[in-house]
Amino acid sequence: MKYFSTNNPKHQVSLSEAVIKGLAPDNGLYMPERIPVLPQDFFDQMAELSFREIGYHVIGALFSEDLNESQIKELVDHTLTFDAPLVEVERGIFSLELFHGPTLAFKDFGARFCSKLMSMVVLETEQKIRVLVATSGDTGSAVANGFLGVQGVDVIILFPKGKVSPLQEKQFTTLGQNITALEVEGVFDDCQTLVKQAFLDHELNQKLLLTSANSINIARWIPQCLYYFYAFSRLPKNGEKVVFAVPSGNFGNIGAGILAQQMGLPIAHFVAATNVNKVVPEYLQGLPFQAKPSIPTVSNSMDVGNPSNFPRLQSLYGGDEELFRENVKGYFYTDAQTIEAIQAVQPKGYTLDPHGAVGYLGLKDFMAENPGYVGVFLATAHPGKFKDVVEKALGEKLVLPERLAAFLQGKKQVIPIGKGFDEFKGFLEGLD
Ligand SMILES: *Cc1c(COP(=O)(O)O)cnc(C)c1O
Repeated sequence: MKYFSTNNPKHQVSLSEAVIKGLAPDNGLYMPERIPVLPQDFFDQMAELSFREIGYHVIGALFSEDLNESQIKELVDHTLTFDAPLVEVERGIFSLELFHGPTLAFKDFGARFCSKLMSMVVLETEQKIRVLVATSGDTGSAVANGFLGVQGVDVIILFPKGKVSPLQEKQFTTLGQNITALEVEGVFDDCQTLVKQAFLDHELNQKLLLTSANSINIARWIPQCLYYFYAFSRLPKNGEKVVFAVPSGNFGNIGAGILAQQMGLPIAHFVAATNVNKVVPEYLQGLPFQAKPSIPTVSNSMDVGNPSNFPRLQSLYGGDEELFRENVKGYFYTDAQTIEAIQAVQPKGYTLDPHGAVGYLGLKDFMAENPGYVGVFLATAHPGKFKDVVEKALGEKLVLPERLAAFLQGKKQVIPIGKGFDEFKGFLEGLD
């Protein structure tokens, strides 16, 4: 299978090139040249298949020209090491809990798949891959944990000193092995600038195979379609149509749901729910797409003013805006509404995190306007990850899951650097 750039369908590359490059040279996003539709007997059997078995079918359909059966199995097994349970929060409203992975957020799925696929691709090139990641928190922890111990890949994380929450920091500074954390004397933008400079430095790129594992990489994007299949297969349905509500920031997660739908999964509708960073809900209501500076909110992993996967969504609809707006309904919510939702759902015996709360609100509004649906919202993070916001909303202490508490025990190991490029370049040149 070839992958084309959303900026130029004639620019096509192999799977390994798309994975190693991440972004196309013309700044477009890679997309599979065709979307395979799974056979009816797969859908008929799906309810009896395990999560991993569903994964073999779906990933096989997309990657079987490029990977053999045992590689596909290895990839899926490495990714799906934890469950994604559906929990009924109210009648007909289900939470798809995507936070049972090592860093308690859905990005674990994409990061784990990406790390394994990169290590397979690098075996072909016989060169060690260096993944550079600038992080303001969440991405660093998912990528670091996803790549931990993966042969042939070293991860270098740059984070701004004193700007990341202590819990998030622990999730990528205590791991050791093939993960190195550089504590930059600066802000997040300085970290990002250093990474960009490294990719542009001719000398460095002659010596080292540098890549990024950010969310636009197809190896992080595609595997996110798996839990839509799995959730659909486990969802109790009595002839109702199915709607998925996705709390969205860069719009990769919802895009993967639309990919699943185009592979034949009979999802009837999507809800794109955002915080006040609402450029996509506004577009879906009929306005032109207009990127804006991001606004800080309590659901801060979705504080995105220029969603990077938007071209991917347009590509999925073949540029047909009407079809896009018909299939996806957009809603946005303020912090006050988000907090109220956390408070309103708690007495039902369920604790929402601020991101899941936005998804829940979108689903409720859609279902109030559209009868005849059973609905799923994606709970993208464990409430313990956003402890301060949730505890304040509820006026009570949360019990942290053991996995999170365990990170807090670890010893922080970092290499301090300044924000000048020469020092960072020197560090990279010193790697063997
Ligand atoms: C990254 C993130 C999102 C947004 O996902 P996109 O794929 O960027 O739309 C939502 N919730 C949480 C907890 C996240 O970490």
